[in-house]
Amino acid sequence: MSDADQPSEKMKFQLTLRQRGISDQAVLRAMEDVPREAFVMAHDRERAYRDTALPIDCGQTISQPFVVAYMTEQLQLKPQHRVLEIGTGSGYQAAVLSRLVRDVVTVERFRTLADSAKRRLAKLGCDHVQVQVGDGLSADLPLGQFDRVLVTAAIEKIPDVLVARLAPDGVLVAPVGPPHGIQTLRRLRLTAGGGQEIKDLLDVRFVPALAGLARET
Ligand code: SAH
Repeated sequence: MSDADQPSEKMKFQLTLRQRGISDQAVLRAMEDVPREAFVMAHDRERAYRDTALPIDCGQTISQPFVVAYMTEQLQLKPQHRVLEIGTGSGYQAAVLSRLVRDVVTVERFRTLADSAKRRLAKLGCDHVQVQVGDGLSADLPLGQFDRVLVTAAIEKIPDVLVARLAPDGVLVAPVGPPHGIQTLRRLRLTAGGGQEIKDLLDVRFVPALAGLARET
């Protein structure tokens, strides 16, 4: 095969997502639309389309593309949804969400990360994403209610304050488990009778969620 025949990195990226079971066309399109190279560190740009997590500032990570696509698919989004993400990090997951729904609010405890995510999202024209600096697990943030909540940092249990942010029929997806080990991606859905339906989906590994604003030096 000549170089021209080699599937491009981006084609391989899409292929990997499909091979690993992502089938929602809207999610695949959103993954195709968002340039991951704009969210990784400059020296990692040529690795941007590999299916691996990569380091970002403040000792955090941008998630593995498959996991981003999988969580997005499991949220079962509709265009009219309002979505809350806890853990902005690079802003990549928020950009993917913003391709699929009308309104995204994303919360990050590091101001440095929130500021750079804001700049990237503005550059890409994601103007219906609101980035907030704060502790996304705190009840004090005046955020309102959401159709979907996505946590992208490891939590040991799903806090009541996040469940309280869900609108009727709301769905929350979060990695639940030990902060420095392997977590289970858990989906919680509010049922009509006021109950909760819980499904465990996949083993994942996220950086831990921490309380309070980050102290930056
Ligand atoms: N979704 C991100 C990756 C998340 S990494 C992306 O697409 O790049 C997890 C992020 O959660 C980190 O940036 C970390 O600082 C943040 N975080 C951890 N605990 C938090 C909390 N309580 N509130 C808000 N953000 C938090």
